[in-house]
Amino acid sequence: HAKDAGRNNHQFYASRMNESAGERLQMENALRQAIASIGLPETCQFALHFQPQISTKNGRVVGLEALLRWTSPVFGAVSPLRFIPIAEETGLIQPLGDWVIWESCRLIHDMRQRGIAGVRVAINISAQQLRHENLLLLVRGALACYELTPDAIELEITESTAMQNPEVTLDILDQLAGMGIELAIDDFGTGHSSLAYLKHLPIKRLKLDRSFVLDIETDANDASICAAIIALGHNLGLELVAEGVETAMQSEFLSRLGCDYLQGYLYSKPLPFAEIIAYLQAQQGVSE
Ligand code: C2E
Ligand code: MG
Ligand code: MG
Ligand code: MG
Repeated sequence: HAKDAGRNNHQFYASRMNESAGERLQMENALRQAIASIGLPETCQFALHFQPQISTKNGRVVGLEALLRWTSPVFGAVSPLRFIPIAEETGLIQPLGDWVIWESCRLIHDMRQRGIAGVRVAINISAQQLRHENLLLLVRGALACYELTPDAIELEITESTAMQNPEVTLDILDQLAGMGIELAIDDFGTGHSSLAYLKHLPIKRLKLDRSFVLDIETDANDASICAAIIALGHNLGLELVAEGVETAMQSEFLSRLGCDYLQGYLYSKPLPFAEIIAYLQAQQGVSE
């Protein structure tokens, strides 16, 4: 009967929901344990990978984006698209994000000692981190500890993060920019920024979201969106970075539109530290 079927259905969904909630809880616990062991290099389950950003003017690597990787003994390699939201919802992003900032600075210092300079490292910052009172002290402390000037790093916040709590955000961004740290708006074009607000933010560049780049050659709408965002950014005095550049056609298209920097698999996937060092050394060899 329909009533029984309905009840069964209900039970079916309830058990499925419990199952996924259980799995999520397991992952949250695994994440908590992983963060607890972050200070022990032998057992650290996290690593930063680095993806180059290339200048369209001269083909040189101008920056690297630091991207967090987690290899769990239980779940294996977990995508940040999966564990970052859990970390954000549970507050675990605070200690994890602190580690990302410290580890980025440590590795920049290491790069400098290997003779690699003039490549800035972009660090992704979540909304909660941005609003935490300690962010400024933390960034200042990590830079000082590794003898870096503020131009060694750049902070990326997503367009939606920038749009939450506009007044608080503006205040914090002003303080960071006042320290000499460059700021970029990530995933630009997917949020709902008000241009009136955007023009007041002390930002240096916009990162054109990958979704517009994907079909740039075949979808006239995406091509016009890219052209419009690049023109808008330039009119506001900002630099443009395109994400997710996978083909030579996309690269040529974006270069023709005047996009300043390109990032994507066409140049390199995000690489572990040792491999990005080799990549940068090979690039230096080519350009000299
Ligand atoms: P995002 O900041 O927009 O980073 C770009 C993402 O696009 C990365 O995914 C990168 O691997 C991927 N990507 C780069 N080039 C290409 C390409 O040519 N094709 C395709 N299909 N993908 C490309 P990833 O590493 O999986 O990171 C996903 C997101 O997780 C990041 O998006 C960022 O929002 C977040 N995330 C990663 N690391 C951190 C971190 O340390 N802190 C915070 N708060 N968020 C992070
Ligand atoms: Mg990013
Ligand atoms: Mg992005
Ligand atoms: Mg993205």
